[in-house]
Amino acid sequence: MTSAAPVWSEPARRALDQTCVTVLGCGGLGVPAAWTLALGGVKRLRLVDPDVVELANLHRQVAFGQGDLGVPKVDALARWLQSRVPGLVIERVVARVTADTLDEVLRGCDAVVEGTDDTLSKFLVNDWAIRPGRDGRTRVATIAAAIQRKGQLFTVTPHGACYRCLFEEPPPPECVGTCAIAGVMGPAVGQVGAWAARSLLAVLQGQADPAESALLRLDPRGVHRTAVSPAGDCPCAASRLTGGRVHA
Ligand SMILES: [Zn+2]
Repeated sequence: MTSAAPVWSEPARRALDQTCVTVLGCGGLGVPAAWTLALGGVKRLRLVDPDVVELANLHRQVAFGQGDLGVPKVDALARWLQSRVPGLVIERVVARVTADTLDEVLRGCDAVVEGTDDTLSKFLVNDWAIRPGRDGRTRVATIAAAIQRKGQLFTVTPHGACYRCLFEEPPPPECVGTCAIAGVMGPAVGQVGAWAARSLLAVLQGQADPAESALLRLDPRGVHRTAVSPAGDCPCAASRLTGGRVHA
C-alpha cells in the first residue's frame, strides 16, 4: 500500500501527520475520496454520514457489499479502509451536517472533502473553509458534486476565490437534482471523488492545483476548467484581508 503514496517533502509530511481530514458524505464521492486520501498519506480521517448502506448504493460505492446492508456507512467504510491501510486512525460520526452542527462535526479538523448530495452543506463547508482554523491554521476544503455522467469540484482556501464567489447562494431545493432523482453513473462519480481528494492533497502539500479557486467540470468529453476571480463583495474578501498562513 505504501508504494502508492506520493513523495512528500519532510515538512509537508510532518504537517500531514498532524492534519485531520474529514470526508463529509460517505457515498459515491466519499468512498473514493477516503480511499485516495488514505493512500495519499493521510493518517487521521474523520468519516461523516447519516445513512446506512442500501442495495441501490452498491453499484457505485465500491467499498460496500451485500454483507454491509443496513450497516452505517461510516462503520462499513472504516472497516474496509482499516483492512487495507493498517495504522490509519479513523473517527466515525453518524450525522447529517447542518448550520448548527457543522463546527462541532469538524472540530479539530483542518481539511474537508465535501461529497454529500446536499447543496446547502457545500456552502456551509465553504464558509467554514474561509475562516481561520485552530491556532490560526489555514483551512482547506474541496467541494465535489456529481450527477448523471458529469461532475465538478472546487477547492477553497482562504487565499483565493471561494465557492460563493461563483455561485453566491444555494439554489432553491426544487431546482436541485439528486442522485436518487436524476441518477448517477458509478465510474463518473468515482472519478470525481478521487480527483477531489487528489486536489485537497496537492494543496495540503503546498502545490498548485487546477481546482484551487476554479471550477473543474468533468464530463464524457473531458475536463473543463473555469478560473474564478475573488468577488470583492463576497464574505471571503474579509478573510483574505486578514491573511492566511500556508498550511504546510
Ligand atoms: Zn468568495
